[in-house]
Amino acid sequence: MSNCAIVGINWGDEGKGRMVDLLTERFDVVVRYQGGGNAGHTVINEKGKFALHLLPSGVFRSGVMNVLGNGVAVDLEHLWNEIQDLGSRGVPVTPENLCISDRASLLLPWHRTLDGLEENRLAGKKYGSTKQGIAPFYSDKYQKKTLLAGELLYPEHLKAHALDLLEWKNLTLTGVYGAPPVTAEELLGWLEDYGEKLRPYIRDTGKYLKQAVGSGKRVLFEAQLGSLRDLDYGIHPYTTSSNPIAAYAPVGSGCPGVKIDEVVGVVKAYSTCVGEGPFVCEMFGEEADALREAGGEYGATTHRPRRVGPIDLVATRYGVECQGTTGLALTKLDVLSYLDKIPVCARYLVNGQETDDFPFPVLLQDAKPVLEYLPGWKTDISSVRRWEDLPREARDYVEYVEKALGTRFDYVSVGPERDAIILR
Ligand code: GDP
Repeated sequence: MSNCAIVGINWGDEGKGRMVDLLTERFDVVVRYQGGGNAGHTVINEKGKFALHLLPSGVFRSGVMNVLGNGVAVDLEHLWNEIQDLGSRGVPVTPENLCISDRASLLLPWHRTLDGLEENRLAGKKYGSTKQGIAPFYSDKYQKKTLLAGELLYPEHLKAHALDLLEWKNLTLTGVYGAPPVTAEELLGWLEDYGEKLRPYIRDTGKYLKQAVGSGKRVLFEAQLGSLRDLDYGIHPYTTSSNPIAAYAPVGSGCPGVKIDEVVGVVKAYSTCVGEGPFVCEMFGEEADALREAGGEYGATTHRPRRVGPIDLVATRYGVECQGTTGLALTKLDVLSYLDKIPVCARYLVNGQETDDFPFPVLLQDAKPVLEYLPGWKTDISSVRRWEDLPREARDYVEYVEKALGTRFDYVSVGPERDAIILR
């Protein structure tokens, strides 16, 4: 593997963090290229169990450089707290193993405030925001109305720019939402406080990456969320506000000309979805509770119970196409071991017609799942490490999904631990 992106194929929470943690041993650099602290990767390794939000999953490997690219929503406060938390648990994060792109835009405290105010205004029509400020942040980024991390290195310029933005933002806070204005002291104090702490991490990461790639270092691009949450290709408007697809990795990493040799798509053996929006394959009642419990499906950042369902082959096939994968990993196969028969959503029923194609988002609302059932294996498979040692029914399930997707699974994960993996 030379340069590789690890991306989510579904609605997020597929276990990307676990795959990045496994594969980082082959890479010198791990780059986050989009999103912010709104989702969480759970990583379990010899150092313990960790929920990462903003930090790349390469922080656990010594000798790996981690980069927060220009496409990331950098919330200095959130990032600093995460660095402190890891440090207190024996995982040092210093400028030696983390750098922040000088071109990354800053997620400011008012983005979190606005996220909450807008969700309250929407009330019953809310989108299920994690209230981390992501949508207001990206809106401002594309209006060029936020600060770049690199501006922290130029304090006089920073102050003048921040005060201009403050005047503008207070018009929205007070005028649109009737909220109290942010004061200059609050904003400048926050910038000074966290800027002081994080300034040493800021550098021209584009230049760093170009040099790293040029000198033969291998780069891993790490995405957050999954295809169906992509701003352009997902279940609009229940998407995130950035592009988790691999095609965005060069842009959001700071190395727009870089060639990505491999794209590993992470597929979950069943479906989960956090928040609002259409979720065609959703299960309810006791059946759903049992799957949620078996998979421990509660959000790493929000602790919200995730919505669950069988694997959705229509959405997953679309997700694979969006990512342009060169290989796939299947995660959480062990979770299905309790089932007598395994449901799969094989097709959708849309306007009375069965279809294999993922429909335009508006049509998802009334789409119905067409279910098929495969035999279960009813055996604990979490200690299996070789493909041929899996029960026949488990192999049949994997092969059935592969056939439906038209792509092979190179990795089958049977537990959250680093070594609970079957390589094929
Ligand atoms: P990410 O955001 O895509 O990294 O996914 P999350 O961390 O939100 O969710 C994946 C969860 O599943 C985490 O708690 C992982 O520890 C866990 N996990 C990952 N792979 C497996 C697996 O194969 N089996 C089981 N039982 N858990 C897994």
